[in-house]
Amino acid sequence: MSHAVTAADLRNAVRNVPDFPKPGIQFKDITPVLADARLFAGAIDLMTDGYAPGSVDVVVGIDARGFIFAAAAAQKLKCGFVPVRKAGKLPYQTIEQSYDLEYGSNTVAMHVDAVKPGARVLLLDDLLATGGTSAAALALLQKLGANVLEARFLIELKFLDGRANLPGVPVHSLIAY
Ligand code: AMP
Repeated sequence: MSHAVTAADLRNAVRNVPDFPKPGIQFKDITPVLADARLFAGAIDLMTDGYAPGSVDVVVGIDARGFIFAAAAAQKLKCGFVPVRKAGKLPYQTIEQSYDLEYGSNTVAMHVDAVKPGARVLLLDDLLATGGTSAAALALLQKLGANVLEARFLIELKFLDGRANLPGVPVHSLIAY
């Protein structure tokens, strides 16, 4: 009999790739989790734990790996999925938010009508690092008047203290480094 998937099982499956995409970065490769039916389903179960269908209006996922988890979570919670994309990708009218990187900046975008005011939103991404990306996503959601219930991540790099950039929203992760 196979036991329920635990966060430890997921941690064991995440592959550490040193020096990708540049020297000094330890890339957390989640593709082994996705490739395993049991682990992928277990990751979605854990990422939606505590939420039942009807309790969330939309799951919002962040470009690009966040889409994979958010779309599957939305199916499980029988609710909608909304993408936060890198700027320049969405076809209709957008709102945009820039954030600083170590060198330069990034911009994320959402369609202006993607989330209705008051909508109950679960924000998902694969990994919380500095929190810059999810803080920008959160700013867009707040601009649209969303009720962000929680931000959840498969992985959190605790030493970067990304959650400090997400004040006022409960933050949870399954695997911490
Ligand atoms: P940040 O804005 O610094 O929190 O970065 C979060 C985004 O960058 C997420 O969408 C991650 O997919 C990606 N990311 C940052 N650091 C890593 C890492 N060490 N391994 C894998 N993905 C990462």
